[in-house]
Amino acid sequence: MPLKIKAGKLKKIAAGAAVSKMVKLKEVASAKEAQKKEILVVMLKNVALVGVRYKLTKPDGTVEKGVVDGSCRIQALVEPGGQSKLEFELPLPSTTAPATTAGGPSSTTATENSTQTYQVLYNGKTISDDNIKAVLQKIADTLEGDVNVTSGDRNYVPAGGSQTSLHLQKRAADLSVSGYSLKDAFAKLKEQKATIFDADKKYEVIRHGDHTATGGPHIHIGRFATGTGVSFKVEGLTEVSKGVYTLDN
Ligand SMILES: [Zn+2]
Repeated sequence: MPLKIKAGKLKKIAAGAAVSKMVKLKEVASAKEAQKKEILVVMLKNVALVGVRYKLTKPDGTVEKGVVDGSCRIQALVEPGGQSKLEFELPLPSTTAPATTAGGPSSTTATENSTQTYQVLYNGKTISDDNIKAVLQKIADTLEGDVNVTSGDRNYVPAGGSQTSLHLQKRAADLSVSGYSLKDAFAKLKEQKATIFDADKKYEVIRHGDHTATGGPHIHIGRFATGTGVSFKVEGLTEVSKGVYTLDN
């Protein structure tokens, strides 16, 4: 039998009121059986927890990790009784705290945390633009992999490079992401663009493939001085598209 918990402050949050650090348990209907208990996950202010990774540390010290599914629920067997800890990995500012309720014969506390951090490795390259640097960190956080910078500010045009390159304007970076192929990283940037890029600025994201006219395969990110939106482009994925830029939004 599923365990049902109600969150006292759920309504306030849904109504757009101030975010509370924790949602208090109000009512535990049934908490007897040592079978799969449900932990009901509620929404953060403006943020659904669907797809967010979680880590549940049970009273006996065992750890269960998973991803919050489309129903916004986490299924877990919590026994024997005692303290459990439910943590979420949120690529969010620290002002937004997860609101959770949890069940089982144990009492469960929710904590705001991130279990692992990911870095931007500049490899000695300089990037002057603070916004591009912030974007790179958001890529590391969102994709959960270190960002390896292979080029930043430039005062020259390399072979196969553009005369109007945003590198010359010091608002660009070339990179790869640890744990991702360039293809997968590019797809993920597209999928997560609302999280990674600022809505009031204009960016280009280019995947330079194996047949690139540039120095080698990489992902390029640049910010324009004005405008809004993110345009995704590919170049050199095949021999015939060497040096040919195609919009791939
Ligand atoms: Zn570039």
